[in-house]
This record gives sequence, structure tokens and C-alpha cells, in this order.
Amino acid sequence: SQPSGCLQMNSLDEWVAYCRSFAAEGKCADYIPALANTNPSELGVCIIRPDGTVIKSGDWNAFFTLQSISKVFSFMAACIGRGISYVLERVDVEPTGDPFNSIIRLEMHKPGKPFNPMINAGAITVSSLLPGESPQDKLDFLLKLLENMLGKRPAINEEVFRSEWKTAHRNRALAYYLKETGYLELEVEDALEVYLKQCSIQVNSEDIAMIGLILAHDGCHPIRKEQLIPKEVARLTKSLMLTCGMYNSSGKFAAFVGIPAKSGVSGGIMALVPPRNRNEVPFQDGCGIGIYGPAIDEYGNSLAGVMLLRHMAEKWDLSIF
Ligand code: GLN
Repeated sequence: SQPSGCLQMNSLDEWVAYCRSFAAEGKCADYIPALANTNPSELGVCIIRPDGTVIKSGDWNAFFTLQSISKVFSFMAACIGRGISYVLERVDVEPTGDPFNSIIRLEMHKPGKPFNPMINAGAITVSSLLPGESPQDKLDFLLKLLENMLGKRPAINEEVFRSEWKTAHRNRALAYYLKETGYLELEVEDALEVYLKQCSIQVNSEDIAMIGLILAHDGCHPIRKEQLIPKEVARLTKSLMLTCGMYNSSGKFAAFVGIPAKSGVSGGIMALVPPRNRNEVPFQDGCGIGIYGPAIDEYGNSLAGVMLLRHMAEKWDLSIF
């Protein structure tokens, strides 16, 4: 279902209202029991420009857990703490075309190195590589990075964590396999604790828009003028968002939206528009975009959120290609 009817609309509020009307075609993730009761018709967006201007619409202020969006942050934190080459010896940077929680390629391609840090196998590996001895040390390193970028330390939603902890059978299977092949640097339960807690970090769309903006500017906070992420880490991360960030619909997203983005099954999407040297395009200096719409599609991406991003990209000529 294409948002063709909304091509005439000219305000973000109208686009949000239009896309929200399609949310019922999706469904809130229920394999994590605590997410099942979310209101599926919520949809919000926050856009932050490098001069600090903030544009908000809909349920932009709703809190949600990062879920897979956290994979971007743990990857950056591991690269900062352990070095890019150390991390890339243990996780590749190739898209799979398989669902995010797929186990199949781990055994198909010896020696079982996870394909990329945006699928669960790669992300659980990366969580175990974070600097620090204990799960808490590793989580603290990640939270510190987020605190540097956001100016506040985000909370962990314990209810969501406990709910997934009890039902994370497939993630446990992945972690046991990775332990056997030597990729995990922690014991299985400890690696899962770091991974599932990072997934349960709570944010709103403004928080992820801010981090998107920093990534758009190659790791530099454009308002504070501070380099918070090394440029090479930021670039590598954006390439992974573009090729693997929307699970097994990353190709379609690159083709029809054309910007780096990362989604999570709770319905968040962090996206960014790098500065472009084309004259007279909207958001020429780049921006960070945070979206929340908990009803997800068959791939696990916010259904209304992807629709909204596609519309914004068409109307505002956001594609990087
Ligand atoms: N915590 C979720 C899981 O491991 C994250 C997955 C996601 O957002 N795609 O299944």
C-alpha cells in the first residue's frame, strides 16, 4: 500500500496522521511478552537539524526500548573500546538477506563468524566484546557512550528485560553456538544479560534523532562541536546501517528511502541524512530522524514508520544516492 494519496499533503502532522491510519496492517511484537500490550496506533517523529532546531510530530515523546537499534551503539562502543580490527576479526560486515534472528548461516559458512553486527548473532558477539570484565562493566561502558551523546544517562526498562530474559530461547541457542565456535568472550548467560539489557534501554524519538544527527556529522556533535565518535567508526557504522540496518528489507529501504537507518522490533527507527552539497534541497546540512511506531511489518520494521520515512524521502529528496 503506497502513500500515494498523501503526496499532496504538505505538513508533517498530516503525513503522520495519514501513515498512522495504516498502522493496523502491522502488529506489535509479541514474542517479547512485555511488548505485546503496546498501543499499535502510536506514531511519532522527531527531526533535529545541526543548528539545534527540533521538528516534532505525533507521539514523538512516547518511550520505547531500543531493541535492535542498540546494536548500532554496542558496535560503536566495542570499536571505540577494542579497536575496529579486533571487532571485525570476530564479526563480518556482510548483509545476509535472512531474518534478524536467523541461525542458519552460522553453521553453513565455516568457521561460523557472524555475518554482521546488526543481526542477533553478530550483536550478541559484539556485546561480549565490550570493554570491561563483568556484564555490568560492559553495560556501563555502553551507557557512558550514550550519556556522552545525550547529556543524560538513559534508563533500562527492567520489565522488558525480564520478560525477554525468560523467553529468549532462540538468542540462547545462538549464544551457545557462538560460545562453541569461540566467538563469545563471556559465558552464555552473561553475554545474554549484556545484550538483552542493552535492548531494554529506554528512549524517545528525540534521543535517537540526536544520535542520528551525530552520526550524520561523522561522529561530531554539531551543536556542542565535540567529536564524540571517531570518524572512521561513524562511517563504518553508517555503512552497516545502510546495508543491514533494516534486517532483510535493507535493500528495499536503500532503494526506496535511501538513507542509513536502524530499526528495532519495539517500533523505533533511527535514521539520518548526511549533509548534501546539492543546492536547494531540504535539510541540506543533514539531520537526525527518530521515529516510533510499534506496529511492525513482516520484517520487524515499524510499518507506519517506514511509510513515513519513504514519504519524507520522496518529498524532501533525502536519498543519498
Ligand atoms: N531483543 C530483540 C531480540 O533479540 C531485538 C531484536 C530486534 O529488535 N530485531 O530478539
